[in-house]
Amino acid sequence: MFVQELVLKQRTEILHALCSSGSAEHLERVLDILLAKGELMWEDYQNIQVPGRALYTNARQLLDLVYAKGVDSCGFFLAAFKQVLPEVQGVGLPLSGCCSNLEEKEENQSTSAQTLLTQRPSLVSKLQGCIDGALEALVISGHFTSAECNEVSLPIHTPSQQARRLLDHVRSKGESAAKVVLKYIQQKQESGSPLNEEKFTPPKEFLKYQKKLSSSVSAQSCFLSTYGGTSHMSLDDIYTEGQLELAHDCADVHGPLGLEDIVSTVGTANEQADTVLVSGEAGSGKSTLLQRLHLLWARGAALQEFLLLFPFSCRRLNSEHRELSIQELLFQHCCWPDREQEEIFQFILDHPHLILFTFDGLDELKQSFSDEHRLCCPTQRAPVHILLFNLIQGSLMKGVRKVVTSRPEAVGPVLKKHLHKEVLLKGFSPSGIDCFVRKHHSDPTVATKVLESLQTNTALLGLCHSPVLCWIVSQCHKELLGCGEGSPQTITDVYLMILQHFFQHQSSLKSTVGLGWLQEHLKTVLHLGQLAFEGVGATCYIFSDTDLETCGVTEKDICMGFLIQSKDMSSTHSKRYEFLHVTIQCFFAALYIVLSNNTNRSTIPKLFENKDMMETDLTSACLRSCLPSSYQQEWALESEATAAETANLQITATFLSGLLSQRHQSLLLHCCPSGMLEKRAGQVVRCLSKGMQKHFKSIPQPIEGEKKSMHAMPDFVWLIKCIYEMQESRIAKEAMSKLQVDHLKLTYCNIGPVECTALAYVLQHLRNPVGLELDNNSAGDVGVEQLLPCMHICNSLYLRNNNITDEGIRKLIAKGIQCDNFRKIALFNNKLTDACTKHFSHLLKTKQDFLSLRLGNNNISAEGAKQLAEGLQFNHSLRHLGLWGNKIGDAGAEALARALDSSKSLVWLSLVGNGVGSAGACALANIVKNSTSLEELWLTENCITRTGVECLIEALEHSAHVKSIWLRNNDLSLEEVKEMTQRESRLIF
Ligand code: ADP
Repeated sequence: MFVQELVLKQRTEILHALCSSGSAEHLERVLDILLAKGELMWEDYQNIQVPGRALYTNARQLLDLVYAKGVDSCGFFLAAFKQVLPEVQGVGLPLSGCCSNLEEKEENQSTSAQTLLTQRPSLVSKLQGCIDGALEALVISGHFTSAECNEVSLPIHTPSQQARRLLDHVRSKGESAAKVVLKYIQQKQESGSPLNEEKFTPPKEFLKYQKKLSSSVSAQSCFLSTYGGTSHMSLDDIYTEGQLELAHDCADVHGPLGLEDIVSTVGTANEQADTVLVSGEAGSGKSTLLQRLHLLWARGAALQEFLLLFPFSCRRLNSEHRELSIQELLFQHCCWPDREQEEIFQFILDHPHLILFTFDGLDELKQSFSDEHRLCCPTQRAPVHILLFNLIQGSLMKGVRKVVTSRPEAVGPVLKKHLHKEVLLKGFSPSGIDCFVRKHHSDPTVATKVLESLQTNTALLGLCHSPVLCWIVSQCHKELLGCGEGSPQTITDVYLMILQHFFQHQSSLKSTVGLGWLQEHLKTVLHLGQLAFEGVGATCYIFSDTDLETCGVTEKDICMGFLIQSKDMSSTHSKRYEFLHVTIQCFFAALYIVLSNNTNRSTIPKLFENKDMMETDLTSACLRSCLPSSYQQEWALESEATAAETANLQITATFLSGLLSQRHQSLLLHCCPSGMLEKRAGQVVRCLSKGMQKHFKSIPQPIEGEKKSMHAMPDFVWLIKCIYEMQESRIAKEAMSKLQVDHLKLTYCNIGPVECTALAYVLQHLRNPVGLELDNNSAGDVGVEQLLPCMHICNSLYLRNNNITDEGIRKLIAKGIQCDNFRKIALFNNKLTDACTKHFSHLLKTKQDFLSLRLGNNNISAEGAKQLAEGLQFNHSLRHLGLWGNKIGDAGAEALARALDSSKSLVWLSLVGNGVGSAGACALANIVKNSTSLEELWLTENCITRTGVECLIEALEHSAHVKSIWLRNNDLSLEEVKEMTQRESRLIF
């Protein structure tokens, strides 16, 4: 009661102390502390801090409130008051006795938003010096608008008030905004050391150079090139986070990575190496991701531990034929120092850890990576690819961090040896697609319509995981929304849509209705097609005026928007062009093969055998024979196909299959004779069939007693995708009629939703049921939904580590229940929770021939186990049940034990690592005792004590079936283990 009276009696003094200076700072600091302690609710705080109201009124409101709340609140208030105004004791407040503990809670908060509250006082002080940076981070992450920034940083506010306004705004934005702020503060704190300017002072010219470089990098990266031909889209407005994952397992890293983790120490695989590889398929967003990193660095919003960032495009480096030194490479290709070149370069050499190089598209370099030609001297001249390879492996400029992007095909073991880590870019997540579409359309109703239409066409939704396709679909929203039932299904459909879209939007001609549009623009298609085709054959992605002329590309063709001017930091070249995206180049190449009279008969077979095509003999290489002479010279120098070449030929072949499908005949018939089309389509079908045969022939004969199994070779998925593009079930059926295996293994095959669609389309025609093993891919829920059409042919489905959630399971099981062959499922390491167990329970009740259910390493608790138990109780077929690494605890184990008590089918049960104690073990002992089938019980890594083991020993006395009970790592002493092993040899410790 004493403190409450004190607040009342000393009211005038307290008010005076808090408010007489005229500054709200004291009051606000007290409020910070009370909020952090949870003594003030957010609503209370808002009632006190009414903007524009007199300071005294606010303070009175606070005093009234704490008084009304009672003794504890008054105690906290006085303690906070004392902390903020320690000198006030002299005024007559006997505060010494009312010091409640005001230390900030250090324990982990469950959410970032909570942390913002509980750490508020220290966050206010940390934020004061870096409000602008924090605001920028919030703008970049899309949480704050510039109007909100202005509101926060109004000059009438003191820095601490600005910090509080910022925190208040962030609170209203929710958890993800709170995360951004906390991460920003943490990075700010961590990045202190290398930038610590006391340690060294960069030379003045260096600082000028830094400024010049960063403004040039900023100018190069602020717009997205895909929009160059039509409109400008700033990267800030459209950038959407892609899914980044470590390529290798790392015990400390779970879940997705953030952009800055690319250069952080997170997931380091080889500390000695300096190169980080970002790998992803064409169109997965690698160049855009680098562009984003460049922009953030140039703006000072990220990567500030690096003073200089040198961006390179391997595509552009291909056209550098001189031998250069590193210094020339940096200065001529990125940014030229106006003065003191030597001094600046020396500074770079002396401070390698402050420098970052990025190399986009290593796969597009004409030479494949090799570490044979060593170079250590930074002043020595060498061909650019030799410089590049030596930089990557660290023999040149050791310590400089390098980020390299590439398609996965180009990443061989030699390169892997030199990697600090490898990060996979897996395109957009489902929420990323949502976010991108909303950013793309300023009108939210259009965005909603596009998203709704994607939900009704999940094959197309699957395609949208690839950012380049998501861009096309968004760009063509009118066509998409207008096409109703016939909306695109295949990648070729989507590219035809963008073709038509560009023609209709760029052309001055009145657009033709119906199918005549392609014919109307045939000349342009053939000009661009020839350029693309010859480029694909010669690993050429940048074209000069002369190249354009040779292929007859006119100014009007350029205006259509498929070609954009190539950005070049060195700006020493005349105008150069590239296709909007490499996949668009491949699409035009495919169009050319279909529509042109000039391609050779062997073009299609060579394209499908993409390796044979690369013989060095110029006379026999069909593509090369029609190349301009400048290409031929280059070509003759290179003997091997680079990875990009092969990948691009495969993409071209995929489009070719799509274009030559029956569905597009009526469109193409306007442009070329039907006989020719049929002939070419026939060639494609034969190539696909031949390709498949090659795979089937490679299947080894099974070892006796084992199943016949095929482990897919990399090209298998590509061939399947080509068949899907054709959309002719006759071809799919024919291809599958010759595949006779019991088990089809497609692990680590980069299978996402798009590949799932194609797989299901083709595999549904298999003659006999198979076990389909898709472990370690990224099917996700959309991919799972795509697989449903082939479920009836799967007797076992292995989907370990595939990013699947309860929603995916709901659909999968609903279908699985109707499939007679479906007997086994393995879902280790997905994102499953208790919400999925009711579906499994239903499955177990319904399917009395179901054999194996493995749900290890998910997030299933006692509740989930109880749900499962409900189904198990009625099931008489299940032989294997795996719940390793969940959290079912004693209650879950007891429920399962009750359901399985006298099971006559269960052979194997694993509850490893589930927090099961002796109560659970005693319950499970009943299964051991009563079941006539159980052979193995796995209880490793639980917390079972002697009591539990005694129950199990007792039960084993009644069981002849059980062969082993695994009990390693439980709560038992060495003596107990010894004694019990002697008593019962079937216990394994
Ligand atoms: P890659 O280098 O892997 O072939 P790009 O970075 O060139 O892929 O991406 C192709 C197109 O996809 C881009 O031009 C852009 O339109 C879109 N895109 C890619 N990543 C993103 C992203 N993170 N945010 C928004 N759009 C993206």
